[in-house]
Amino acid sequence: MSFIPKDLTQEKLNTIQLQGLQWTTAHAYNNSPFYRKKFQDAGLKPENIRSLSDLEHLPFTDKEDLQSGYPFPLRSVPFEQIVRIHASSGTTGKRKVLCYTQKDIDTWANLFARCYEIAGLSREDRVQIAVGYGLWTAGAGFQNGCERFGAMSVPLGPANADMHCDMMADMETTVFCATASMALLMAEEIQKRGLLSKIKVKKIIMGAERHSEAMRKRIRELMNVEHIFDIYGLTELYGPGTGLDCEFHNGIHFWADHFIFEIIDPITLKPVPPGTSGELVVTTLCKEASPLIRYRTHDVTRIIDAPCACGVPFPRHDRIVGRTDDMFIYRAVNIYPSQIDHVLSRIEGVGSEFQIHLKQREDGRDMMIIRVERGIKAGPADDAYLAEKVATEIRRKILVRSQVEIVSYGDLPRTERKSRRVFDDRK
Ligand SMILES: [Zn+2]
Repeated sequence: MSFIPKDLTQEKLNTIQLQGLQWTTAHAYNNSPFYRKKFQDAGLKPENIRSLSDLEHLPFTDKEDLQSGYPFPLRSVPFEQIVRIHASSGTTGKRKVLCYTQKDIDTWANLFARCYEIAGLSREDRVQIAVGYGLWTAGAGFQNGCERFGAMSVPLGPANADMHCDMMADMETTVFCATASMALLMAEEIQKRGLLSKIKVKKIIMGAERHSEAMRKRIRELMNVEHIFDIYGLTELYGPGTGLDCEFHNGIHFWADHFIFEIIDPITLKPVPPGTSGELVVTTLCKEASPLIRYRTHDVTRIIDAPCACGVPFPRHDRIVGRTDDMFIYRAVNIYPSQIDHVLSRIEGVGSEFQIHLKQREDGRDMMIIRVERGIKAGPADDAYLAEKVATEIRRKILVRSQVEIVSYGDLPRTERKSRRVFDDRK
């Protein structure tokens, strides 16, 4: 059984997208006072949506809309049709609560099953799920998707390392689903306990947080797995499972028959040229309880506009490189700290900590100083060479000039979770 339509053509996709867009706009307009007002303020009616290009006339939806509509924002069906809610942690302000009809739950399971299919699982696989269950979407998503797909789920949630190690060995788990930091923790535990010969995990599906290439490499080596897959998704979009990268690991295939993905410039709010990085904006095509119309994810990625060698007929987007909130503009280029991080992660001899200082020169020109820690084993003798190398790579990859200062390992402050990276002293 396959969850991925094999005969999907661009033409078919366009038809599905237009029908879905028309259905969603009419559904939202007729059943949600929030959306109706939004449409009215924009002077639009659902019947104005005649082609896919009309999408860009529709107003955006943003996280503030979800917060101000608390507790049931965007709700577009009567309560009797709602069978579940999920919520995402509100780091600022109220939680974002999203409603689900039974059809929404089913759709989500089918889409998630596609992810397992793309990852090359079979029904013989045993899937150990280490992500959080409960109000969060992660556990429910991995679980329902696994059951729908037909593999055996081993639902542990985050649990502790002892339990994960025991179950992984005893249940002969073949697929491990976790956040990147959890996967790394487990990989290190397995190594420390000398369990590798007892472990049968061949694939890891990782989601929910950004992680560096170095981290993936370390997990792959420690656990001796064949593949690490990246899953994408947000609570607002059912949850995880809107797409997965295939075995070629060259972008995340996303379900364009259920979502329209647009990439916009977060400043001008206009679509960017094809293939350019920008903010991902999503419109759902058949979501009932909490439909999304041009929802600004604030995640930064780009669409990869080329067929994939794997033959899956779904388009791809690149790995998420950052959040628009972290973006800064330097000499007319939009830059995300994660792009700098990415460049640094590929240079031997530099550490992972860095700071970006933006200043204004006397002549009014902007300048960027990047302070980078030396790697733990490197000495100051190589500093000049390293600084030159970093500056060259940044010029090559991000197309801007910078001044690089190498500092000792441990010199830059470490803070919990998110270090402050950008110090902007420009006027
Ligand atoms: Zn592919």
